[in-house]
Amino acid sequence: NASLRELDPEVAELIDRELARQQTGLEMIASENHAPLGVMEAQGSVLTNKYAEGYPGRRYYGGCEHVDEIERLAIERVTGLFGAKFANVQPHSGAQANAAAMQALIDPGDTILGLSLAHGGHLTHGMRINFSGLLYKVVPYEVTEHDLQVDMEQVARLAREHRPRLVIAGWSAYCRQLDFARFRAICDEVGAFLMVDMAHFAGLVAADLYPSPVPHAHVTTSTTHKTLGGPRGGFILTNDSDLAKKVNSAVFPGQQGGPLEHVIAAKAAAFLMAARPEFAERQRRTLTGARIIADRLTCDDTAAAGIKVLTGGTDVHLVLVDLTASAMNGKQAEDRLAAVDITVNRNAVPFDPRPAMVTSGLRIGTAALATRGFEAEAFAEVADIIARALVLPAESPAHDPAVLALRAEVRKLARRHPLYPGLGS
Ligand code: PLP
Repeated sequence: NASLRELDPEVAELIDRELARQQTGLEMIASENHAPLGVMEAQGSVLTNKYAEGYPGRRYYGGCEHVDEIERLAIERVTGLFGAKFANVQPHSGAQANAAAMQALIDPGDTILGLSLAHGGHLTHGMRINFSGLLYKVVPYEVTEHDLQVDMEQVARLAREHRPRLVIAGWSAYCRQLDFARFRAICDEVGAFLMVDMAHFAGLVAADLYPSPVPHAHVTTSTTHKTLGGPRGGFILTNDSDLAKKVNSAVFPGQQGGPLEHVIAAKAAAFLMAARPEFAERQRRTLTGARIIADRLTCDDTAAAGIKVLTGGTDVHLVLVDLTASAMNGKQAEDRLAAVDITVNRNAVPFDPRPAMVTSGLRIGTAALATRGFEAEAFAEVADIIARALVLPAESPAHDPAVLALRAEVRKLARRHPLYPGLGS
């Protein structure tokens, strides 16, 4: 019964350092969040010991009476939260939710339409060496060159031309709403299934701040750890009882063995949290923060440095910074913000002239800071710090006094919004 510190001081020390990194800096990776302690408590519980292959009431192992209740609670809560008839809460991750949903809907060799990775799609939407690109014939659709938004005319044209069996809507790096009814109409016209991957915007949907895909999609997939703010994991929703059966057998035994009941318990707690008014209020602050950052990055000083915001603003929890016309590339910008203790990721912009390892973009998200209590005033401060950091000369080193001064401001802002108070030193 040794503690982690006694059992493995090396790993314990590294976890301490990661906690300190999260506490002293600002996490602005758009796919990240800070899970509440209660969620992490469920993840670190005795449920990790339990095998429960199968589904509640139909397990291949004994002793499942408690995990059955937990999994039923998770299903009940997530279907209630998103207004869906059926849910599978077992996918270990968003990628596995997508793999299972595709396995349920279509066969290897079938044609799928998905948003190109280079234009904001996810690896699992048809990237060449991902399972989706290896198993299925992929026809990517893109954003238009003039407004950088998903080109629904192109989706319709490609659907008519290639007759896909599946169309995937959803994104990892996109900042506008999608027209799910239009996607569904296109699918109905060509006889395709519609799968919506709401991994990024599920929290916004739960708070009614982004259109819900659930009434339109044959199947909706998601993660639980981005805007939703729960444990790392995935889930799948559908309103169709036949598809629900296919989804269940595609998850287990199709893609996975034993479900992670400790994570399912944490998902149940996260779904409970997401139904509360405080959660909706946090999602509103998330959007406010993203808009404030987009506005600050479209001021004179950033414009003069060649910095732009893709599509000129945002409807969601992230801002895509376009550095195509800037002397600073995506890698340098990511490193600059890292030097001031703000963690973001570089991201290719559509029609990016720079190589994939360098890129001309940054993806900046606000979900984790909203969880940490940031409101408009604090977001305005962080937006200003980001803008001032990005307009410094690209070659300024991390120890440049101007960079160090911005880092001191970030640390102060972080201290004013304590993360996991009581944990760590
Ligand atoms: N779907 C989308 C749209 C994503 O952005 C991501 C992750 O970033 C995933 C799926 C995959 O989720 P996971 O990393 O849990 O496999």
